[in-house]
Amino acid sequence: MKDERFSPDAYDVTVIGGGPAGLSAAIAADKAGARVLLVEREGRLGGILKQCIHDGFGLIRFGEKLSGPEYAHRYIEELGGTGVTIRLLSFASKISKQTDGFELTLVSRGGVDVLQTKTLVLSTGCRERTARQVNIHGTRPAGVMTAGQAQYYTNILGRLPVRRCVILGSGDIGLIMARRLSLEGAEVLGVYEAKQSPSGLSRNIAQCLEDFDIPLLTGHTVTRVFGRDRLEAVEISRVDEIMRPIPGTGERIDCDGLVLSVGLIPENELAESLEVLIHPATKGPLCDQRYMTMISGVFSCGNALQVNDLVDYVSESGAAAGFYAAQTATQTATQSAARTVAPGIGLDRRAEGNFADLTTDDAFLCLSPQRLDMDYREREIPVFFRSREDRGKTVLRVQAGGREFFRRNYSQLRPPEMERILLPLENLDLSPGDRIDFTLEEA
Ligand SMILES: Cc1cc2nc3c(=O)[nH]c(=O)nc-3n(C[C@H](O)[C@H](O)[C@H](O)COP(=O)(O)OP(=O)(O)OC[C@H]3O[C@@H](n4cnc5c(N)ncnc54)[C@H](O)[C@@H]3O)c2cc1C
Repeated sequence: MKDERFSPDAYDVTVIGGGPAGLSAAIAADKAGARVLLVEREGRLGGILKQCIHDGFGLIRFGEKLSGPEYAHRYIEELGGTGVTIRLLSFASKISKQTDGFELTLVSRGGVDVLQTKTLVLSTGCRERTARQVNIHGTRPAGVMTAGQAQYYTNILGRLPVRRCVILGSGDIGLIMARRLSLEGAEVLGVYEAKQSPSGLSRNIAQCLEDFDIPLLTGHTVTRVFGRDRLEAVEISRVDEIMRPIPGTGERIDCDGLVLSVGLIPENELAESLEVLIHPATKGPLCDQRYMTMISGVFSCGNALQVNDLVDYVSESGAAAGFYAAQTATQTATQSAARTVAPGIGLDRRAEGNFADLTTDDAFLCLSPQRLDMDYREREIPVFFRSREDRGKTVLRVQAGGREFFRRNYSQLRPPEMERILLPLENLDLSPGDRIDFTLEEA
C-alpha cells in the first residue's frame, strides 16, 4: 500500500470512493494484475462503516458478527499488502472521456491534479434524503438532522445531539439510532412512519425498538416543526392510504430533536456527468452482469449502484466490479496496441444489439443487473431484487423465450430485504435482443 503523492503515470483502474465497495474493488483489481489508484475524499478509508459501531456486519462474508469499523479494518489490512496507490483527502470532481480511457480531475489540499485511467470503478456510496425532500415545512431550527448526521455526532464526535427526540421514518439507520440514542440517555419518543409497514429489516425492528420499548407508529408523519434557533416541538399527523396528511389529526409533541431516516439515494453525480444511463428503479447506473454501466470502461458497485441493506453484498459487487475493470483495462491495452483510435472520439456507448434484457413484472421494486452482455456468458450470475410490497408465500419464476428455467419459493418477501439468487445461464439459448422475464406469483 502506498500513500504517496500523485504519480504522473496513468492507471489501469481508478476506484472512486474508499468505502467497503471501493476497498473490495481496489483489492480485486490489484489481484487481477492491474495498476490501481484508490481515491477517497475523507481522511480515512472505510466509508460510512467508520461510524457504524454496532455489530451485525459480515455474517455472510466472514460468518461472524463484526462492527462496521472491524469489518472495514479487515479490508484495509488486506489492502496494505497490495500495490494499490491510495489518495486520501482527495475529491474526484470531474471525469471526461478520452480516446483511450478517462481523464480524472482530483481536488485536494495540494491543489488540482489531472490524471489518466483506462477504466473507472464508481463506488461513491449513497446520500440520505433531507427534510426538504420529504416536504417538512416550517422554520429551520437546529435539532433537525438525518440519522447519519446523528450517528456521526454520537459515534465519531462523541456528542449527544438530542435529549428528547422523535424519529421520522423507519429505515435501518433510524432504527439503529433509536437504540443508540436511548443507550446514551436520550429519550426517544417514537418512530413515526408514513407507510403502513416499516421500511427497516425485521431484525432491527425487534432488536432496536421492541427490546427498548420504543413505539413504532405507522401511518403517521411530521407535518410541521416549531422553534427558531433550536427545535421546540414537531406536529405529527395521521396520513391516508396515499400518505397525504389527514387534516385535523395534528398533535404537537415537545422535543429538541427530529431525526430523519427517510431513504437513501445512490450518489451518482460523476456518473451522470459522463451521461451514464441511470435506472429509474434502483436510481443507480443501468449495469450488465459484470457491473459495467452502459459506458464502456465505467463500472459501478455498492450503494452507488443500488441501496444495499447488507454490507456483504456491497463487498461482493465491489470485488466483481474491480476484477472486471482490471480485465477490461488489460484487454483495452492489447486492443489499442493493434488499432489507431480516432482523436476526439465521443462517449463510447455500448452497442444495444449485444444485450439480453432482464425484465420484471410490477411485483418487483427493482432488480439488478438489468442487462446480460452476450459476449460474456458466465455459467451463473448473481441477481439481486426487492419485491414492491410485503408478500406471503411467493414463487419467483424466470423464463426465457417462454420457457421457465429457474424457480424459487419464498415463505415471505419484504421490500426492505434484498434477495439474492444465482441465476444459471449454462443451458440457455439466448440471442442478442432476447428477454429474460422475472415474475413473482402467489405460491
Ligand atoms: C448514514 C448511513 C449509515 C448506515 N448505517 C448502516 C448500518 O448501520 N448498517 C448497515 O448494514 N448498513 C448501513 N448503511 C448502509 C451502508 O451504506 C452500506 O452497507 C455500505 O457501507 C455501503 O458501502 P459503499 O462503499 O457503497 O458506500 P460508503 O460506505 O458510503 O462509501 C462511499 C465512499 O465514497 C467516498 N466518495 C464519495 N464521492 C466521492 C468523490 N467524488 N471523491 C472521492 N471520494 C468520494 C465517500 O467519502 C465514502 O467514503 C448506512 C448508510 C448510510 C448512508
